[in-house]
Amino acid sequence: MMERSFDSRDSRDSREGGPEGRRNKRDIIVKRDCKLCMDQIDIDFKQADLLKKFMTERGKILPRRISGNCAKHQRQLATAIKRARVMLLVR
Ligand SMILES: [Zn+2]
Repeated sequence: MMERSFDSRDSRDSREGGPEGRRNKRDIIVKRDCKLCMDQIDIDFKQADLLKKFMTERGKILPRRISGNCAKHQRQLATAIKRARVMLLVR
């Protein structure tokens, strides 16, 4: 019984512990997936539609991990969203 459970656990481990499966959280290479860099968009608080793409439906700013923005654009975006909130362009 015990051996069996060990065995199944072991096989699961080896499946997960592949070349990339094991190091997923810390060693992951940060991808440059910033859409704003790729399209060379300048963020402006008047572009409510653009800002909404980087917000949840509840009006929160998407974290960078999800949106994939670079630090520069994430910062610009956060400022723009906050301004847009004041101007009541977005929630
Ligand atoms: Zn960027």
